[in-house]
Amino acid sequence: MKITFFGAAQTVTGSKYLIEVGGYGLLLDCGLHQGKRSIANQLNANFPIDAKKINAVILSHAHADHCGMLPVLVREGFEGKIYCTAATADITKFILHDSANIQENDALYYNKHLQEGEAPIKPIYTEQDVKKTFSYFEPVAYFRLSGQWTQLTPNIRFKFYDAGHILGSAITLLEITEEGKKKNIIFTGDLGRHFLPILRDPEFVKEPAETLIMECTYGSRIHKPVSDLELELKTRL
Ligand SMILES: [Zn+2]
Repeated sequence: MKITFFGAAQTVTGSKYLIEVGGYGLLLDCGLHQGKRSIANQLNANFPIDAKKINAVILSHAHADHCGMLPVLVREGFEGKIYCTAATADITKFILHDSANIQENDALYYNKHLQEGEAPIKPIYTEQDVKKTFSYFEPVAYFRLSGQWTQLTPNIRFKFYDAGHILGSAITLLEITEEGKKKNIIFTGDLGRHFLPILRDPEFVKEPAETLIMECTYGSRIHKPVSDLELELKTRL
């Protein structure tokens, strides 16, 4: 098994992690790089991995830095399934429509105001690319509700725990069997906090794991208690 990081390492956007087992390629998240136009456009224009080598995608949640590059992957020839919860699939559709719209308008505006010697830019993807992406979604319920694992190959299966970050967000527990030995990988995606309204608390993963891939953007900070947030919001308005 080989794990390669193609984003969200030494930076906080563009989450993409490739797991290769034998000839099978599994991509965890497919996020857009966000930041300065010149750098982001360069990083987002082409997919950093041969799309034909990716057999399936697992999406942790619907924020653009985790799902926003799916249309580029599909345009470059991906034809597998994109596994995520039903809520993530629904929200991702809105996010990708919106993202394509911003990029198309951004390119129009930029190209209208070109300085001498500057080359026109193309949108990273269009509404057409987004529509094609939707046909690959495969909704999977949280294990708490279904009691079912999802089998990707005879030796790879996974299940979703609730990550409590946004609606539909999931922690993935991957179980991979190689040469008769089982190994677990936990992929948290972004993790939520306890005791928030509407969202469920993040679930504890019951199984032990050999590998943990975890978001740690706020890992060095202690959040204020949720009870302080309302007052803080009022004072900032
Ligand atoms: Zn997020």
